[in-house]
Amino acid sequence: MDKDYKVLSVTDYEKLVGAETIDRLLKKGKALNHLSVTNVNSTYYGGGVAELLGSMTLMMNSVGLRTGWRTITGNPDFFSITKGMHNALQGGDVTFSKKKLDMYEAMVYENTVRNHLDQDMVIVHDPQPLPMIRHYKNKKNWFWRCHIEFSNPNPKLWAYLKPFVEQYDAAIVSVREYGKKLKIPQYFFMPAINPFSSKNRKMSDKEIQAKLDEYKIPTDLPLVVQVSRFDKWKDPEGVIKAFKIAQKEVKARLILLGNVATDDPEGMEVFESILHEQNDEIMIMSVEDTELVNALQHKADVVLQKSLKEGFGLTVTEAMWKGTPVIGGRTGGIPYQIDDRVNGFLVSTIQETAECIVTLVKDEKLRRKMGKLAQESVRQRFLQTRLLEEYLDLFHDFKCPYHAYDQ
Ligand code: UDP
Repeated sequence: MDKDYKVLSVTDYEKLVGAETIDRLLKKGKALNHLSVTNVNSTYYGGGVAELLGSMTLMMNSVGLRTGWRTITGNPDFFSITKGMHNALQGGDVTFSKKKLDMYEAMVYENTVRNHLDQDMVIVHDPQPLPMIRHYKNKKNWFWRCHIEFSNPNPKLWAYLKPFVEQYDAAIVSVREYGKKLKIPQYFFMPAINPFSSKNRKMSDKEIQAKLDEYKIPTDLPLVVQVSRFDKWKDPEGVIKAFKIAQKEVKARLILLGNVATDDPEGMEVFESILHEQNDEIMIMSVEDTELVNALQHKADVVLQKSLKEGFGLTVTEAMWKGTPVIGGRTGGIPYQIDDRVNGFLVSTIQETAECIVTLVKDEKLRRKMGKLAQESVRQRFLQTRLLEEYLDLFHDFKCPYHAYDQ
């Protein structure tokens, strides 16, 4: 007989968000009448999009939508072009030859041949699969969801991508600043976390200690932690510089934990470029272990997300959920996540980062106060029930715009 597997359901959230919210979500799901939905992205692991899809697809199923998830494939050339696009959309100065763009479009086309998409709603994530829409006859209710920091994209690349975007029924970006002049409607959905995942669930002190022991992470000094893909936009070099300045005033240990997403070919290079900085008080780790992420975010005295560009930092919300104050770069989505000097700090420079590290490491009372407020702000604004409702409302708008839910 099959084992009785338990998967994430919207009802799991009742204790956190209240029965009224759950009833409303179930009702909204029911009104959509088993709608079929698929998501298309380019990596099953590593990075925020895969993290979001892993739980959001289960949440959608739990309210009655037949929701799936496809991952496109590509060779290293393809992913090096799309990573270049990612960098250029975040404002980087990258040029794309016609040959490269042809290669990109050809690989996207191959993926359309092997992906038969005839669901009621199709959500395509980020630039990698963006042009797929051209090749389908039925492109009703297709949405492009861009997770990238998008306030100032490279104009040439944007001119090339925009005609693809305008074939969609709507574009979804994380915050208003990323809104663009487009012929299609735009929506603003901030990402959110699953508080029950192995990365975010509550861990006991004993479990945390065991996890840190497993990786020989000493706890004799206060921990300053950044968990991020090895990506120049996450500014690992800036983190190390800020930490070294802070070390002149406080004793602490920096842990930089990172991974490399399957669609990010630059990660290894960034990782290797900072390895020489390792010493007794600076640990740089490339490990795939979600429980380690959880343990570090719980145990840290301070979490950093000193990004130079960040569409929306899931890591910020994850750490805040654990009651740990975060020092985040004043960029992109992070100012929406951290209320500066209330439940964390926003910083623009290395010096400021160092000063905030010192302040937090020295002041346990402040850490506790900020951490508590941080956790409550995640409960109110950044759990996936909020994001699910935004999607349900979107589907409802497009499926049956003339019917109210309660009719
Ligand atoms: N992450 C992880 N291990 C790592 C580094 C990152 O599991 O070593 C996870 C992190 O916890 C978060 C996601 O990858 O869930 C990163 O999402 P975020 O929005 O912060 O950044 P992105 O990588 O999408 O730019």
